[in-house]
Amino acid sequence: MVLKVSSCPYCDLKIFFRIELSDITTERFPAPVYIVHKNGICDQLSTFYVDSKLRISYSTKEKKEGAIKTLHTIDKP
Ligand SMILES: [Zn+2]
Repeated sequence: MVLKVSSCPYCDLKIFFRIELSDITTERFPAPVYIVHKNGICDQLSTFYVDSKLRISYSTKEKKEGAIKTLHTIDKP
């Protein structure tokens, strides 16, 4: 599990989530994963793309095809 720090494409607040290789399809990179910003206010789903080392490439508000997991953000660790 890798802890990631990024920002929500909807509200721009800092977000934290944990991800591992089994959360994505490794057929091609960058690979999409759905992230739900769980803070009781935003709660929006966006798509984040990560590379083979689970580094975030980019994110988008759109729900893109190809993700196999939906991850929820966690409180600041
Ligand atoms: Zn948000």
